[in-house]
Amino acid sequence: MICPDCKEHVLKSEATQIGRRYFHPECAEKRSKQEKNSDTEKQELKELKDYIYFDLYEKKVNMPFIMKQVSEFKNEYGYRYKGMELTLRYFYGTLGNSMQEGHGIGIIPFMYEETKKHIRTVMNVKSSLKDFEVKEERVIEINTPKKSDNKRIRRIDMDSL
Ligand SMILES: [Zn+2]
Repeated sequence: MICPDCKEHVLKSEATQIGRRYFHPECAEKRSKQEKNSDTEKQELKELKDYIYFDLYEKKVNMPFIMKQVSEFKNEYGYRYKGMELTLRYFYGTLGNSMQEGHGIGIIPFMYEETKKHIRTVMNVKSSLKDFEVKEERVIEINTPKKSDNKRIRRIDMDSL
């Protein structure tokens, strides 16, 4: 039979079955990786849009104009949706800058790299805090065995931004 991805022959006994079709194991793996990536991307795009529409502009925004900017940044600079969202959150939220009318999200290319740097620093601080908390927790467990209520620290893969 023929592998639907690479169109080469594949033996049924050696193939990986997905639904009714048979793939080379490596083709099947590649496929599931790609699907995962595009799922992540879809989710990140949704989060970026939600943030811009509901939080940043409180529904008073021309989304087609914004989305045109978003796709320009993605295509021209290779920015990730999550990186753009974090950049806006950093610039308007953390730094407390005020919005300027008519600029849309044009600040992103000016702040993207600085945001990355900032988040790297924060993540480093958090992970050293985390080490500390783990030690504390062990001590607590010996005395009063109760469920830990430590907040989970969300991990962001900065190198992929
Ligand atoms: Zn194949």
